[in-house]
This record gives sequence, structure tokens and C-alpha cells, in this order.
Amino acid sequence: MSHLILFWHRRDLRISDNTGLIAAREQSSKIVGVFCLDPCILNSDDVAPARIKYMMGCLQSLEKQYTQAGSQLVILYDNPIAVIPALAEALKVKAVFWNWDVEPYAQIRDNDVICVLREKGIQTLNQNWDQLLHSPDEILSGSKTPYTVYTPFWKNWSSKPKANPVATLKNSEGLTAAEQEIAKQSGAINLPSAQDLGFIWDGELIIEPGEAVAKARLETFTTSAINEYQEQRNFPTVHGTSQLSAALKFGVIGIRTIWQATKELLETSNSEEVTASIRTWQQEFAWREFYQHAMYHFPALANGAYRDIFKKFPWQNNQAHFQAWCEGKTGYPIVDAAMRQLNEIGWMHNRCRMIVASFLTKDLIINPQWGEKYFMQKLIDGDLSANNGGWQWSASSGMDSKPLRIFNPASQAQKFDIDGEYIRQWVRELKSVDTEYLVSGNITPLERRAVGYPTPIVDHKKQQGLFKQLYQEQKTGM
Ligand code: FAD
Repeated sequence: MSHLILFWHRRDLRISDNTGLIAAREQSSKIVGVFCLDPCILNSDDVAPARIKYMMGCLQSLEKQYTQAGSQLVILYDNPIAVIPALAEALKVKAVFWNWDVEPYAQIRDNDVICVLREKGIQTLNQNWDQLLHSPDEILSGSKTPYTVYTPFWKNWSSKPKANPVATLKNSEGLTAAEQEIAKQSGAINLPSAQDLGFIWDGELIIEPGEAVAKARLETFTTSAINEYQEQRNFPTVHGTSQLSAALKFGVIGIRTIWQATKELLETSNSEEVTASIRTWQQEFAWREFYQHAMYHFPALANGAYRDIFKKFPWQNNQAHFQAWCEGKTGYPIVDAAMRQLNEIGWMHNRCRMIVASFLTKDLIINPQWGEKYFMQKLIDGDLSANNGGWQWSASSGMDSKPLRIFNPASQAQKFDIDGEYIRQWVRELKSVDTEYLVSGNITPLERRAVGYPTPIVDHKKQQGLFKQLYQEQKTGM
């Protein structure tokens, strides 16, 4: 008889190209999946309803995948440190496998689970870095320290050979009827919906849940938009990027599967522009890993600035300004369009994420952690490492040597929303404003009043000067 192995899914909601899962399958033909709805995460104040709706849909699809593979996905709702070992013990499993995670909370939780499982004499295997192409300890500088600058990281990371996708779980045995009863007694529940968990999201999802949808999105992107990625990725009304971020956040698609697709495209590319576009897209995955490695090596990043100069920065933290920023009512059309996009669909284009983050930190002089948290409360793809990395980059508080990068909202709109289509799409009251005035933000007070659009809450030039002054004062005081 085969030994039962539990595979604990966390941010790897798929059965194909899953390194930890396939390592489990190599040791037994009886693999049962388990997912634990962790109240500590669900009840925290940085959870987005759109993200939970997407995640629950992905779990539904994972449940079907397990059934097709001949097994089951067991759903628990409780503290994983208690219920994962309890389930394993009750089912007399040989081992519990999972993939490793860079996040500080996950690392502490996992180490606690390991201790309890060991006390019960249950084997664990958890060193697969499934969500990364390279583990954090694989990409180190010549002096064996973590990189804190992206370019040398990219050079090292891109020069290393990458693993191919691994096989899909197939023909697994599942729990017997008696074991299913034991699982129930150990807390197994039917999969709830996001609504059952108290998360209401009626908005459209930028990507439907499930591995099949993510794979189809990859296929569509890599047969068309990727060819012009380098040129088009900065224009928020163009479908120029993959919109795979939520699928990557929850590991609904394997990173090796994506990388293989880029490799195949490079092999067949016969144009310099297309090759450059594919390489640029590959760089985004290196950014993703750069930030995950950074979070692993420097967990304090999760709680504040990396650079000393920003550790005690005199942020002005005006509540009314923050509220206006959240609601998309700052009076700066490109900023407001982006924030309204975030509020309505739980996703924002990368160019706009940089614009609104610069505006919050450099124009409103508000602590980037406020913005980081608001993003986590809204984003379908909200991810600690990528979000923190993006915010620290924009605030100039991170691993970055350019301290005074300040975006001018008007010139950003003039460059990337040339005909004002993006602004008109999200700031509907400005629909009939002439493009020239719309993108430059030079809308008269009279016109603003007529359409019910706010006057700018701050003056960009003045705030830019103030930010620079505060920065210099901090520098001199150090
Ligand atoms: P594509 O352009 O198709 O890129 C492919 C994939 O590469 C993305 O899906 C993503 O996984 C990864 N990627 C791309 N750019 C970055 C980047 N700069 N940093 C890290 N990974 C990247 N991304 C998140 O996944 N979650 C977040 O919470 C998040 N918060 C951000 C906050 C700020 C302030 C900024 C400036 C950026 C943030 N990003 C975040 C990065 C980036 O904006 C999104 O990954 C991207 O917009 C997702 O769209 P896409 O899937 O079409 O990307």
C-alpha cells in the first residue's frame, strides 16, 4: 500500500510545473492536497476583496484538478501551525511537503509547523523554491553577499541556466471514505466562496481564476503583444503587458513554464525589436525575483525604509490629502485616473503605479507605507515583495541610488496618455475636456467647478521644492 503524503499548497495553486508537488509524487502514488485558510491572514487589515475572490476561484479550479488527477484537495480554516500537523497525525501521513516562501510571516509559520510535525515524528520536505527561477542563496555577489542593486543582480541571474517545467500530477490515489471522515473530524470543510468569508467584490476581475485561464493568457500574450512589449508596455490604454501578475502571485502558473515560453520565442525570433522586447519582458521576472530575494535577505524591509536617510524622514502625513489620493480626487487627472482604476478593478498599470506612488511620497510627502498598505487593500496581485519593492523604489527609500526621482504628473500624462484616453476612461467627468488641457492638467478653475472636478490639492512645483529641502536637511543632519 502507498504511503499518504500531504502536499500543502500556499502560493502555488496548480498541479502542473509544481516542483514540490512533483517531488512528493516521486515518493508516493498517494498525494492529497491541502490548503489552509489562515484567519491571521484573512483578518489582517491589508487584504483586498478582489484578491480573495481571485484566490477562492483558483482554489475551486485546483479542487477540480485534484479530482481529475484521482485525488482530493482538503480545505482547512484555522491556524496552520495547529491544524496542518493535527490533520497529518490523524491521517497517519508519512510526510508533509510544501514549497518554500520568502515572506517573513511565512518563514516563521513554516518553521513552527516543521517543529510540531517533527515532534509528531512526521517527515517534512519544504526546500523547493517553486515560485522562483533561482533561490535567494543561489544569486549572490562575488563576496557571497546578497545584491542590493538590480543591474549586477540581473547580470548574474540571467547568466545562470534555468530549470525546465516539471511534470503535472497525474494518477494519484486519494483518501479512502474512512480517511475522508477522519479529515472532516480534523477540521476539513467544504470550500467556501469569498462572500462566505465576508469579502464582497462585484467588480470585474482583470483575469479570471484558474490555471487554464493563466495558460491561455500566456499563450495570447506570447503570440501577439510580446512582440511590441518594449515599445508599448508604458502606455496604460494599450494591452501591452501580460496581466499575469495575479496568476504569478498565487502561483496559478509555473514560473518555469513562462520562462520556457520566452526561451522558445527567443529561439524563433528573427527581428531585433522582437528579441529586445522578449528580453525586456524577461527582465521583469528578474525584478520580481530581485524583490523576493531582497525580502528574504532583509526581512526588515517589510516594516520600513531600507536607506537610513528615510528611516526618520519628516513625512507630512496629511490625512485629508491621503484620503483625496485614495479616492482619486487630487485634482491631478492622471493620478486620479490611476487611483480610480485601482478602486474599480483592483489592478493598475505599472506606469501608473509609479506615477501615483511618486505623487503620494514626493508631492503629498506622505509615508510610503500608507500607500503600500492601501495598494495591498485593493490589488488583485498585491504581493508583499513586489509591492514593497515598487514603493521603496518610488519613494527612493529602497535599494536604489537615485534619491530624487520625482515624476511630474503632467509630463507623464503627456508622454504616456498622449490623447487622454486613459484619463477619460476613469475620470469620466473630464470626458469632454480638450486633450491638451486634460493631459497637462491645465484645466481652469471654472471648468473644474462646472464638471465637479477638484482643484489640485497641492502645487507640484512647490511640493517638489519642499521635498528636496527636507531631503537635504535630513542628509545634512545625518
Ligand atoms: P508584465 O509587464 O507582463 O510583467 C510580467 C510579470 O513580471 C508581472 O506579472 C510581475 O509578476 C512581474 N513584474 C513586472 N514588473 C515588476 C516589478 N516592477 N516588480 C516586481 N515584479 C514585476 N507587482 C505585483 O505583482 N504585485 C504588487 O503588489 C505590486 N505592487 C507594485 C507597487 C508599485 C508602487 C509599483 C511601482 C509596482 C508594483 N508591482 C507589483 C509591479 C508591477 O507594477 C506589476 O507587476 C505589473 O504592473 C503587473 O502587470 P503585468 O502582469 O501585466 O506585468
